[in-house]
Amino acid sequence: EATTDNPQIRALDDATIRQIAAGEVVERPASVVKELVENSLDADASRVSVAVENGGKDGIRVRDDGKGMTESNLERAVEKHTTSKIRDISDLDAGVGTLGFRGEALHTVGAVSRLTVRSKPRNGGAGGASGTAGAGAELTVEGGDSGELRPAGCPAGTTVEVDDLFFNTPARKKFLKTDPTEFDHVNTVVTQYALANPDVAISLEHNGREVFATEGNGDLPSAVLSVYGREVAEAMVHVDFEATGPGPVQSVSGVVSHPETTRAGREYLSTFVNDRYVTAATLREGVLDAYGGQLAPDRYPFAVLFVEVEPDAVDVNVHPRKMEVRFDDESSAKRAVTDAVEEALLDHGLVRSSAPRG
Ligand code: ADP
Ligand code: MG
Repeated sequence: EATTDNPQIRALDDATIRQIAAGEVVERPASVVKELVENSLDADASRVSVAVENGGKDGIRVRDDGKGMTESNLERAVEKHTTSKIRDISDLDAGVGTLGFRGEALHTVGAVSRLTVRSKPRNGGAGGASGTAGAGAELTVEGGDSGELRPAGCPAGTTVEVDDLFFNTPARKKFLKTDPTEFDHVNTVVTQYALANPDVAISLEHNGREVFATEGNGDLPSAVLSVYGREVAEAMVHVDFEATGPGPVQSVSGVVSHPETTRAGREYLSTFVNDRYVTAATLREGVLDAYGGQLAPDRYPFAVLFVEVEPDAVDVNVHPRKMEVRFDDESSAKRAVTDAVEEALLDHGLVRSSAPRG
């Protein structure tokens, strides 16, 4: 009774499995940049420099002055599911203090590019030797094949270079957009980390030209100035709000722009929940509602907001690699953000109080 057109089930070969899995972590240059910057921040860097060529399609380099890696850790770092950040699931349940923990990024990036990692531990050379420049090591992975470890002259910290992204997955390469669009995504990612970490000097370069560089002095307005420029920085007012009502939000702090300092087309709303960059329609609408009718059509304000939430009241894992979150009480979360922004704007006489709410 078996039909003759019943398709054959067959096992995929390792290379195919690797490339499909890679596609879930690495969608475009900006996803590579995100993973590498997170690794630098997890390594306790005080300086992170990102440089990309042609939107990141022709080259991505992330350099940090973080804790670096020994030679043996460098070799292990590019293998599959290797991490120094958790040991087992109990560490996850206890809450991880790092941005990464899946141990996938370097391995998957190496599967779909030519990846070079150069590193020297902060305390002494990669071989455990002197600690002078020159004691570092370097490893290249091409389309999943690891080369030999080589000695490399480099300062303490880590430099990761990713060339020819998707050279061995042409179908995926074809889906990349124009260089300016891909660069826009890269810029958005690096901007979020720069705003979220004013204590780290973060810079971005495109085709050899500096796009921005923060001071790393711990001051949010200073980071906003570096990233968005003087006109925007001077139009920002402080948000500093402790929630008293019911709902998941405990406090909201940061800066938002004067209702007249807006941009068309693109949104510059950065929201962080418990210090993690997230996108949530709830938070976005909460911010926009605070401006009421003060915004010209299709114009958006600038906002950098840190929302503290009871950890149990938010699900950050709607999608493990995307940045969406959901609150157990969406409408209270939205209201808290609106109240916070409205209070800040009102303090500066920038919006009229909306109709009383019941
Ligand atoms: P994860 O970040 O989830 O642990 P990755 O594949 O991104 O996985 O990195 C694997 C490991 O390599 C990390 O756990 C870390 O020990 C090391 N590593 C990666 N990037 C850096 C870096 N910039 N500085 C120091 N160590 C790094
Ligand atoms: Mg990582």
